[in-house]
Amino acid sequence: PGAGKGTQAKIIAERFQITHISTGDILRQAIAAETDLGKQVKEILSRGMLVSDEIVVALVKERINQPDCRPGFVLDGFPRTVNQAQQFEIIFNQAADAGKFAGKKKVVILFDLSETEIVRRLTARRFCPQCKADYNLVTKPPRQDEKCDRCNVNLQRRADDNRETVSQRIKVYLQDTAPLIEFYQTHGLIRLDGALPLEQVTKE
Ligand code: ADP
Ligand code: ZN
Repeated sequence: PGAGKGTQAKIIAERFQITHISTGDILRQAIAAETDLGKQVKEILSRGMLVSDEIVVALVKERINQPDCRPGFVLDGFPRTVNQAQQFEIIFNQAADAGKFAGKKKVVILFDLSETEIVRRLTARRFCPQCKADYNLVTKPPRQDEKCDRCNVNLQRRADDNRETVSQRIKVYLQDTAPLIEFYQTHGLIRLDGALPLEQVTKE
């Protein structure tokens, strides 16, 4: 969390004209729309825990089979457990057997960042509730104190970007997500230095 994967995923999707799939965004949209799914996961996200593998795998399966994913896609925030990665192999191969993603190559990118820097970035992260623009009081501050440059409304903080929940998210990462590094070691894992400036990470 907070290593820059969301920022870079959007840039990659735009650059290669492929679809950006963020499981975190999908879950937050469900929460905002107060759907059954949203009600089910709201508490889990605000506590910094992981939503069940069953729920997110079903979401991703449905999403990658939509027509806009044919040219390819960037998964942002998924898989987050070894089980999700194993399930993804299955759903991806099913879609591939159905003739989708022909000639597409799978690439896995790890953004490496220290815990201190993650906490510093996440607690400084803000967004505009109106136009959804992202800000960071440290790395990308608004012109006026905590107000959107475009809309002039007060910036907000994600429900899980407070210090306590950030610590919990890092704990969950180390326990449940970090084992994926080993899992993808043999699948051409690319390791990037997440501490580099935004443009430099994109270039790498
Ligand atoms: P970040 O990486 O900055 O923590 P995300 O937007 O990727 O933010 O995820 C926010 C939250 O959504 C996670 O803390 C978790 O509760 C939930 N979530 C997102 N993706 C997954 C996933 N693949 N599996 C389980 N939970 C997920
Ligand atoms: Zn705005």
